[in-house]
Amino acid sequence: MEAIKGIGAGPGIAIGKAMLLGESQERVAFRTIDASQVDAEIARVDSALDASRADVRRLRTRMASRAGEDAAKIFDFHLSLLNDRGLTKPIHEDICRERVVAEYAVAESFRKFADMLRAQQADAIAEKASDVVDLQRRVLGHLGEHVSTRITNMRGPVVVIAHQLTPSQAAELHRAQIGGFATDAGGLTGHTSILARALGIPAVVGCGRATADIEDGDTVILDGDGGVVIVRPDDGLLERYQFLARESETRARALRETAREDSITSDGMAIQLLGNIEFPDEIPSVLSNGGVGIGLYRTEFLYLTSEVPPTEEDQLESYKRAIELCAGRPLTIRTLDLGADKYTQEHLDEAETNPFLGLRSIRFCLANPDIFRTQLRALLRASAHGPIKVMLPLVSHVMEIRETRMIMNDLAEELDEQGIPFDRNIALGIMVETPAAALMARVFANEARFFSIGTNDLIQYTLAVDRGNERVANLYNAANPAVLTLIKSVIRTARHVGIESSICGEIAGQPLYTPLLIGMGVRTLSMSPGQIPAVKRVIRGLDIEHCESLARRVGSFDSDRQVLSCLRDELRRIDPEALARSEGG
Ligand code: PEP
Ligand code: MG
Repeated sequence: MEAIKGIGAGPGIAIGKAMLLGESQERVAFRTIDASQVDAEIARVDSALDASRADVRRLRTRMASRAGEDAAKIFDFHLSLLNDRGLTKPIHEDICRERVVAEYAVAESFRKFADMLRAQQADAIAEKASDVVDLQRRVLGHLGEHVSTRITNMRGPVVVIAHQLTPSQAAELHRAQIGGFATDAGGLTGHTSILARALGIPAVVGCGRATADIEDGDTVILDGDGGVVIVRPDDGLLERYQFLARESETRARALRETAREDSITSDGMAIQLLGNIEFPDEIPSVLSNGGVGIGLYRTEFLYLTSEVPPTEEDQLESYKRAIELCAGRPLTIRTLDLGADKYTQEHLDEAETNPFLGLRSIRFCLANPDIFRTQLRALLRASAHGPIKVMLPLVSHVMEIRETRMIMNDLAEELDEQGIPFDRNIALGIMVETPAAALMARVFANEARFFSIGTNDLIQYTLAVDRGNERVANLYNAANPAVLTLIKSVIRTARHVGIESSICGEIAGQPLYTPLLIGMGVRTLSMSPGQIPAVKRVIRGLDIEHCESLARRVGSFDSDRQVLSCLRDELRRIDPEALARSEGG
């Protein structure tokens, strides 16, 4: 038995058999076969190659109809690779001569082919190596080295163990109905963790050595509340966690039952609680958890979960669905926040040395006007179907808002000419998630109709700590006085100039911070649906005057330790159960 400590990233407890995912499934184990199996193994490879060719042809047709023949040409290249004897012949030879399994032969042949391309002088040829890697995944997928196939083949609940998962892999795991996941890498506010909370998947990230210490098929207990993975537990511990899992489910059910109560402090101040979503289908869960609308719709997930870029019509459909499900309630849609840890298939291999400081979010959109215009046109068209607000991520310069407005004006003229209706008064606001935007909030307030403070990024950029890097996770702290000073000043400025402000970073859903944020003047909080009931319960136990005096006291502290200890004392007084949950108890 062994306990691996990590960071609790998704709620609840999962108990099941471990399934290890290779780094990107292309590191395939070396296994040999008997002479009698050679023909069958060759047949497996041939049918996997055939199935991959069929996939590529299908994708080509879809891309051609959506984005035209030129865009579809990339798939011709993929098809020619799959037919290239330089790639397929060594696979057959390895199986016949070396008697290796089909998976290993495929992985080796693709790897050598990619290396050969990488070694070419001409950049245009070297870049094609990434297409080979992409195809390798596809062929291995057809050979059964695929997440969902492997999961379906396992009996009982499965806990996935991986070095790192991308946000789109986490979404795929959810569809495959896994019990939970643990990763070596990652931090609490990385997008994979956020997705785990949004989808209600128990998860522990930043475990450091989970993939080294856990073997396929081991029984594991994954405690997403306590941030620990227990490997090969004894019977006593297993029983204890089975009991805890039932108890935590009962507690969550009891909390959900209070979801319909008003979100109002004991002295009558209304606090608006909204949900953060990645897909419109999460909206019913926001409402059933007691949220009154959507404060952050992360639209990039439509890109991240589809193989070809979503068209204007695809996006319009999603926005219309969100509008319909919100039925007149607030709905703030954020424009694409791609880059950093969220790359589309097409841009996956455009490596940046420092992607969190690179071409991400609004910068990526302005640098890719076709992508941005498509989204903004879909948003404008959607606005005819119900009230929406549009929000720009990672703004650090007023020009970014002005340029966006110019594009929107241009699109508005185009829509007018085409007689397509849209809301002429659509509110354009920004996320305040860079120190530049926070420090210059007064200037930004002249350009933006509202602010939403994205503390996940604001913390990482203020403290210079990567939000997804477990090695510096101890330095990533919302309670750092530098972060709190910026939050407070943005809220004050918004109030002063009379524009709406809210918080949509993860601290908005952490009961520990609720009294402080309200004391600083926040009246709207947006969070993962599952966090709403607990925050609401804390709000109902607060009074504003006390919160304001707490905020003043916290403002005088010079270390995050002092801040945290004061916030813990406060929460212990208001809602000891919430404190126990936040400490993983
Ligand atoms: C944030 O940065 O706080 C935020 C809400 O945006 P995201 O987590 O999607 O980067
Ligand atoms: Mg952000």
